[in-house]
Amino acid sequence: MERLYKAKNRLGLVFFPAFDWAISPTHPEREERLLYTQDQILEEGLKDIEGIEEYRAYLAPDNEVERVHICVPDVRSRVTEAHLVAAGGAIVAGRKVLEGEVDKAFALVRPPGHHAFRIVHGARGFCTINNEAIMIEHLRRHYKIKKVAIVDTDCHHGDGTQDIYWHDKDTLYISIHQDGRTLYPGTGFLEEFGGPNAYGYNLNLPLPPETGEEGFLYALENFVLPVLEDFKPDLIVNSAGQDNHYSDPITNMRFSAQGYARLNDRLNPHIAVLEGGYSIEGALPYVNVGIILALAGLDYSFVREPDYSPEKVSQSPRITDYIARLCEETLQAWQKREELRARHFQGKDRVTRRRRIYYDTEGLMEYQQETTLICEECAGLSWIDSHTDRGSHILAIFIPRDACARCQKEGHALFEQTETTFYRDGIYLQDRVEDVLLKK
Ligand SMILES: [Zn+2]
Ligand SMILES: [Zn+2]
Repeated sequence: MERLYKAKNRLGLVFFPAFDWAISPTHPEREERLLYTQDQILEEGLKDIEGIEEYRAYLAPDNEVERVHICVPDVRSRVTEAHLVAAGGAIVAGRKVLEGEVDKAFALVRPPGHHAFRIVHGARGFCTINNEAIMIEHLRRHYKIKKVAIVDTDCHHGDGTQDIYWHDKDTLYISIHQDGRTLYPGTGFLEEFGGPNAYGYNLNLPLPPETGEEGFLYALENFVLPVLEDFKPDLIVNSAGQDNHYSDPITNMRFSAQGYARLNDRLNPHIAVLEGGYSIEGALPYVNVGIILALAGLDYSFVREPDYSPEKVSQSPRITDYIARLCEETLQAWQKREELRARHFQGKDRVTRRRRIYYDTEGLMEYQQETTLICEECAGLSWIDSHTDRGSHILAIFIPRDACARCQKEGHALFEQTETTFYRDGIYLQDRVEDVLLKK
């Protein structure tokens, strides 16, 4: 068949709809999520465009997961093959870009991943393992990239991605989401600014419910793009959640397919990975087509939902003012991050935090106590005492990718010297310098 158009940017697509995987038949995170999108892509003839190629996902091996997560008791007890293929799909998308086969890539995979934390006792917010983080750490291991920016445009705060990169100032995490006072998971505020060795590299912009097209694009131009300009990432990854759409059944925002396409166009990410989005007929097919066209550098001005009207994406002047102030305050905090870091952590050698993490799918509660060494040379050694209300108890030790000799040595000493009697499900050591996960 003769190809109709030529993409300005060569674009790789990876599809994995996971037709045999669902939390339950009526759950919003279910098989049909990508079915209508695939139909729409065929209908628009996107696969016939020269420069758009489709690639197959593969099953990510356990060690790719273990580079990011400590699954309790192990990877295979927590994940299904669908999770591993979704993560593998993201990896394939990333590799095609880094190998120069394509300019950009979009992994349209499910189940999603941005609510999955470093430690995994089960599923949270429809997520078990973090597809973007597994991809990024794979790319860091195999290609020369250092600084990565993740811009998460899902309607929910990506608390899992925040947790994974909390101590890593080479990974800037920016999340734009519906205010956590009004939506799951209830987090994602300015005060969540990063760990002591990466203070300021975790940026949350909680937008009020009923934020319209104007608000999202304002936040992009006046907050996200200036921060990226400063940070100068080697790679930009978009966690492309689509549940800000006005028709989404589980959120309260007023964004459109056209808006998502414009956002993607301006953000200009190397790789997009699908996250949430539960308006499976009314939004996903149009948003995905818009994003694909924007990534390929093609005209997306004709992309419109059948039920679109300007009122559905408008916002009140009160919200416009609020977002302007929020962007200014957050941008200022970013610019003053060194000063704020000194103010908070000067004179301390470690920080400890206690958290409760709820796994809504299983109804399980985890209690964490995390200690992190303050280090001027690396992301710092961390360890987490984690127990659940189901009686599981572990110690997890994290030696970061860029660990200095002292942090690496102290991590191994802690692993060797801690008695296992207290931790009934074991002691784990994730040594990112050696790229291994040890357990005793
Ligand atoms: Zn979401
Ligand atoms: Zn160190």
